[in-house]
Order: sequence, then structure tokens, then C-alpha cells
Amino acid sequence: MKRYPLATWTPSPNFNRGRGGVALTHIVIHHTDGQPRLDRAVEHLCNPKPSGSPVSAHFIIGQAGEVVQLVDVDNTAWHCSGWNKRSVGIEHVARTPGELSHGDPGLPLTAAQLEASARLIGWLMQTLELGLDAVVPHCSSPVTTHKDCGRADSDGGIWPWAKYLEMLRAEFSRAG
Ligand SMILES: [Zn+2]
Repeated sequence: MKRYPLATWTPSPNFNRGRGGVALTHIVIHHTDGQPRLDRAVEHLCNPKPSGSPVSAHFIIGQAGEVVQLVDVDNTAWHCSGWNKRSVGIEHVARTPGELSHGDPGLPLTAAQLEASARLIGWLMQTLELGLDAVVPHCSSPVTTHKDCGRADSDGGIWPWAKYLEMLRAEFSRAG
């Protein structure tokens, strides 16, 4: 069982047991691109019968840096078609401008959120023996339809990848 000590455990029924013999190689970074409430996002990720198909992630991080764990890292969450068995999925409550309506200002990632995220990934890298190259944005998956999910701010998205990777590097050397 792999549960992050700094997370609130809120188990989701949306997962498959184990990894189907596939090696865990990636940590996939997402943002929710929806409404701002963490509790509503958690509800959605725990809903076995939503209006669309059921989804989940291993973790979701709120705007104040709250970390919620929904699926054990040893099990397969449903966050990234084609890459689920090989990856850990981390959602962040944040939104690309224009996502909800025309003129929607979006919801930027906060400093507290990025710090909590980097800390969690430091723990994951140590626990799963993964390096920095394991960390990828959802939009880099070849089969995703979520073109904005995790997209860099240098490429019109909301993710400060340059700064985030610096933070991850610091966590990695601290853990190493
Ligand atoms: Zn995503």
C-alpha cells in the first residue's frame, strides 16, 4: 500500500487493482479545467456513475495546497487513456482562461499548490525510484484529447514548467 503521509485519504471506487504487470514509469500532471471547488472535484473523481465516463486520479491538489489521495499508488487510476497502467496521475484545481465561457479569466495555479505538488512528487520519486524525466504533462500523451491539460505557459497554457521543474529538481536533490 502506498499512501502519501501528507494527504487526506478519500478513496475512489474508480480504479483497477494492481498495474496489470506494467512497470510504473510516469507521473502525469493534470489540471481540472472546471469549477474552483476542491470538494466538488473530489466528488466527481469518486463518482462511479457521472454523466460522462467515470474518471479518477491518484491525487488532487487544491488551490490552498491541500492534498487529497483517491487511489493507492499500487493501483491503476483512470486519468490518462493508454497510459493509466504505467503512470501516477496528479490533478490540480486550476483552469485555462476561456474554458468555462467566453471571457472566463481562468483560475491560475497558486504558489501553495505548486509547492505541495513538488513535495508530493519528491515523495513519489523516492518511493517509486523514478527520476525527474518521469514527470510529464497530460497534453504530451499521444492519445489525449486534452490539449490544454498541463500545457506550458511558454506555449499558451497555464503551467509554469520552467519554474516547476526547478522546484522538482530541488525536491529531488533533497530526497536523493
Ligand atoms: Zn488531464
